[in-house]
Amino acid sequence: MMLRFQWDSLRRDDNLLVHDVASADLGLRPAVVVLIDSSGPRRDVAVRYTDGPDAGRVVRPGRFATHLDPLTSTADCWRCAETLAA
Ligand SMILES: [Zn+2]
Repeated sequence: MMLRFQWDSLRRDDNLLVHDVASADLGLRPAVVVLIDSSGPRRDVAVRYTDGPDAGRVVRPGRFATHLDPLTSTADCWRCAETLAA
């Protein structure tokens, strides 16, 4: 997961690591920010996967499924904990 202030300071073309909820292992995929929508009550961020079989696909992963790239901390992220335990 990403801290609120990190999420709120994202810009287009920032590099992220995203837990792919479509995959069974919730693995981290490299992605780049393509759209920031702050018109609603919640900041909405769209990213495009840059590698792997899903390269080019655009998703809106949400703050709790997202990390900064390079990865700084996996603390408090249950998805990372689950991946490490597997
Ligand atoms: Zn994580």
